[in-house]
Amino acid sequence: ISTNKNTILVTGGAGFIGANFLLDWIAAGLGQVINLDKLTYAGNLENLASIEQNPAHIFIAGDIADKALIAKLLAEYQPRAVVNFAAESHVDRSIHGPEDFIQTNVVGTFHLLEEVRAYWGKLSAQDQSTFRFLHVSTDEVYGSLGADDTPFTETTAYAPNSPYSASKAASDHLVRAYHHTYGLPVLTTNCSNNYGAFQFPEKLIPLVLNNALAGKPLPIYGNGSNVRDWLYVGDHCSAIRRVLAEGKVGEVYNVGGWNEKTNLDVVHTLCAILDELKPKASGSYRDQITFVKDRAGHDQRYAIDARKIERELGWKPEETFDTGIRKTVAWYLENQEWVSHVTSGEYRQWLDKNYTER
Ligand code: NAD
Repeated sequence: ISTNKNTILVTGGAGFIGANFLLDWIAAGLGQVINLDKLTYAGNLENLASIEQNPAHIFIAGDIADKALIAKLLAEYQPRAVVNFAAESHVDRSIHGPEDFIQTNVVGTFHLLEEVRAYWGKLSAQDQSTFRFLHVSTDEVYGSLGADDTPFTETTAYAPNSPYSASKAASDHLVRAYHHTYGLPVLTTNCSNNYGAFQFPEKLIPLVLNNALAGKPLPIYGNGSNVRDWLYVGDHCSAIRRVLAEGKVGEVYNVGGWNEKTNLDVVHTLCAILDELKPKASGSYRDQITFVKDRAGHDQRYAIDARKIERELGWKPEETFDTGIRKTVAWYLENQEWVSHVTSGEYRQWLDKNYTER
């Protein structure tokens, strides 16, 4: 069989990063996307409302661990590439209930790889050489840095500390092994913390924005000194496109924006922008900051050395933290309806209604 050069299969395209990737892909006219998503609590078709009627987007509700479904989709659509975003992605949830993380991130990725390998094995030699399996992963697999350590490079040893990062590390290893053992043309990206439109309000930035506007406490773990390296989601998506198009098969690319910030800095920045764009009757949003008991096993610092993707693929982020965070706050202020849907039972109902109508 031959691949359809106009078609890619994306998993997890109804989540935060996957939805941004899909919207950008379709807006740029890059071809047809088959979007397989299980629609967990984090998957939201409302993110894709603007391309709902677009024939270039085909949504399929389903699980990456469902081998029969994957085999059917691959045979039916014959994609030239698979981009795997689907995952359980929230560290706190992985601490309270790791099971789903093992099931989706490890078993799911394994089943997906198995079916992609079978499909790839049936392609012509020419199509085998151009096919790509791109696995989207995280910098958290590298563990935690001390204040004076140099940022993570692609050769930093894996040292995951949470059930989330351990499950992502396991999936990265499987992806690597499928290249070395079976020759599957894989690519892996390990990216720093993303922020931007459509992020579920359990993650730091949308959570703080949501609580700030609702007059609720802004919870900060420990003393707020944990450092994360932030990248605007649109820049992560452009990096994935670049790696997909030009990455060297079997290679890993670290993706980051050289934007290390303490959690407290991030929250202060958000409060300052809100104070300017949506001032309170009196006082500052900062007054709502509350320090809470630290997360178990909380990694102190992540930082990405992105020189490889910059040097070898010529990728650079377009947004600085200052420009990206302003865009993000503005998006949340303009999309309060989206926020209220995802934080209320209405969202569930919307989902059930739209889902059954499909
Ligand atoms: P998200 O939680 O917002 O979205 C995950 C999506 O995957 C949801 O739409 C969900 O319904 C879907 N999904 C979950 N289990 C599935 C399954 N078994 N089968 C099919 N679909 C399933 O996550 P996100 O923040 O968009 O992250 C996407 C990917 O990027 C993940 O692999 C994550 O590890 C990685 N990543 C995220 C960040 C970040 O800062 N958010 C940074 C680096 C890497």
